Amino acid sequence: MTENPTAPTTTGVYGAAESSGGRSYRNGMKRILITGGAGFIGSHLCERLVAEGHDVICLDNYFTGRKTNVRELIGHHNFELVRHDVTTPYFVEVDEVYNLACPASPIHYQYNPIKTTKTSVMGAINMLGLAKRVKARILQASTSEVYGDPAVHPQPEDYWGNVNPIGLRSCYDEGKRCAETLFMDYYRQNGVRIKIVRIFNTYGPRMSANDGRVVSNFIVQALRGEDITIYGDGSQTRSFQYVDDLVEGMVRMMNTPDDITGPVNLGNPDEFTMLSLASLIKELTGSSSEIVFRPLPADDPRQRKPDISLAHELLDQWQPVTPLREGLLKTIDYFDKTL
Ligand code: NAD
Ligand code: UDP
Repeated sequence: MTENPTAPTTTGVYGAAESSGGRSYRNGMKRILITGGAGFIGSHLCERLVAEGHDVICLDNYFTGRKTNVRELIGHHNFELVRHDVTTPYFVEVDEVYNLACPASPIHYQYNPIKTTKTSVMGAINMLGLAKRVKARILQASTSEVYGDPAVHPQPEDYWGNVNPIGLRSCYDEGKRCAETLFMDYYRQNGVRIKIVRIFNTYGPRMSANDGRVVSNFIVQALRGEDITIYGDGSQTRSFQYVDDLVEGMVRMMNTPDDITGPVNLGNPDEFTMLSLASLIKELTGSSSEIVFRPLPADDPRQRKPDISLAHELLDQWQPVTPLREGLLKTIDYFDKTL
């Protein structure tokens, strides 16, 4: 263990502690806190880490998450569920923190935008404080939204973005950007062992049916025989990553050496227009729904596609392995059973 975790290293970068605060690992088993663990991505991460034998504490205020997302884990001896809001401090002894707490869909993060910024910023401060105190590693679920409506395509990590600071999406975009700043400053100033991943559009089972994001909207509309609502003319693009691929990337990132902080993009570089997504979902569901066009929301990015070369290089050749068609079929199956 480093004598003084905040001492400057020979490279002039402030170094980080090399191991967590003296907790002993039993057969590599760690105690892991997942904020936002009852949400869509968080629930898959809980499942994965419990299956690996780790002790998982799932913390959530259930704003957009649900206990039913972690239903299968409740009662498991390695799993604890805690109702808590990350805008207030939380004290626990853990080896790792995955900080996911934050509504992710535009409808939900714009519902109470001030709270969204508080969740990102105060949540980051509280969780970084915790990580600092117990010398835990901490991973931030950041987002491709930090690139805003990007002027560079595809987006590499060294692109600084094109974000409107006063628009409807700003509570989320700027909240996440400020959280990244806090993560880097806790690393440089206090030697906290941080990791930042920038997540691009991710989909899969346990998205909420009323989430408002495009994949869940189109599937739910197709299954219900309702109109499939394309915002704008449908020529805007996104790249869709299946949740299992993301979780694999997040776990690999957490396990990188301490000098790897990120940010690292995690996303699927295959790019689709919303029009082609709507047609594919119509085909896969066999739906007779009509495709209709609605006004484009303000500040809706025109194009988005990750450059994942850094993730490939740093995360043991990580790359998404689930084709869109396969991931959509699994997601359609989930909604078919739960709607
Ligand atoms: P989600 O809304 O399903 O999950 C967010 C979880 O955080 C929910 O369970 C919610 O109840 C919880 N939460 C919200 N505010 C909280 C608070 N103040 N205190 C405690 N818990 C709180 O969304 P998701 O898609 O699973 O996203 C998880 C994380 O990944 C978010 O931080 C999001 O910004 C990030 N992300 C997701 C995507 C995506 O495409 N799904 C893309 C980029 C980034
Ligand atoms: N979108 C759409 N119809 C919907 C929901 C979303 O055409 O019912 C569009 C939306 O305008 C955006 C894209 O799909 O251009 C992705 O939207 P989402 O909210 O899923 O994610 P984000 O905009 O944050 O990437």
